Amino acid sequence: MQTNELTSDLLRRLADLHTDGACVLSLFLNLDPSQFGTVPARATEAKALIDEAERRLREADRLSHDQQQSLRGDIERARDYLRSPAFSAEGAHGLALFACSPAGLFETIKLPRPVDTLAVIDDSPWVEPLAELAMRGSWAVLLVNRQTGRMLRGSPDRLVELPPIEDEVHGQHDQGGWSQARYQRSVEKEVHDHLKRTAEVAFRRFRRSPFDRLLLGGPEEILAAMEERLHQYLRERVAGRLKVDVETSTTAEVARAAAPVIEQVDSERERDALERLAEGVNSGGRGAAGLADTIAALNERRVGALLVSEGLSAPGVVCRQCGWVGADALERCPADGGELEQRPDVIERAIELAITQSAEVLVARHHPEAIERHGGIGALLRF
Ligand SMILES: [Zn+2]
Repeated sequence: MQTNELTSDLLRRLADLHTDGACVLSLFLNLDPSQFGTVPARATEAKALIDEAERRLREADRLSHDQQQSLRGDIERARDYLRSPAFSAEGAHGLALFACSPAGLFETIKLPRPVDTLAVIDDSPWVEPLAELAMRGSWAVLLVNRQTGRMLRGSPDRLVELPPIEDEVHGQHDQGGWSQARYQRSVEKEVHDHLKRTAEVAFRRFRRSPFDRLLLGGPEEILAAMEERLHQYLRERVAGRLKVDVETSTTAEVARAAAPVIEQVDSERERDALERLAEGVNSGGRGAAGLADTIAALNERRVGALLVSEGLSAPGVVCRQCGWVGADALERCPADGGELEQRPDVIERAIELAITQSAEVLVARHHPEAIERHGGIGALLRF
């Protein structure tokens, strides 16, 4: 059993899952190393999670005999997994598990940040806690000086170092025998070759596994030359520069230097989106604000980015047949006349709808007041 990394593709696959009426068990396990650093602490938390799942199953009304049976089996399987050696959550700060045996689903995902321990039984995977984690994007850091290139990649919460890119470059100091000018030219050629090779390796790694944004670190004059040599795809992803020593800094030091830059980029991205939302709404153009208009745009699959304030919840209705979501208490689905089910909260469904139409999901963390002005939810529209 492989524990997967969280990606936006995986998230889309979960949000797209059709279960033909079967229920899905969604489990979130907090593995915050400061609280659950030891094996017994983790085991206790895992047991509490399974107990909560069992309680949810007992308390769930309106489940058919088949639904109950398959959920019982899924809870057993989750319990076995959490007791097994396969549950090696090394480096993970949280774990998500989705199970629905009638749909052939058993997915475990390592999370880079702690989550609240939570069990949910619903007719689709409960993806809300994952949406923001995945949407914060994937990052790479490229550190480069005259002879060494280092690359790290991952999420804002966890960067992993890749093998170094080292080239033989001679020192700049005078060495007898060669004329100084000729010697300098040869060194500059070596540096040039090193930057060229670093750019090639970085692009090869990007093609194998793309990332959204790139940070550069190293001496200023080298970074300017480096940036020029990067493939255009990488150049347009450069989001900032770090002040770290290229050769001696540890992965943890690079991550510490990257954190405020990433926060800043996140905050600016959020502010841009909120400004575009305000413009779109004011001009009657490509912006939807408030629950009713935002959900209408999601149902019409016109959303390019969904903005939602952290922790928002709102009641509404969901069509059992097609997944249509409504904020009002309608009787029948306007899309197919199917029966609508009253739900205490439809925000999670709104996020799922956004993910399945490849929209960005932005949970407003830096500028909450700007989204609360719009009723806590809004969307940038594609058309
Ligand atoms: Zn419907």
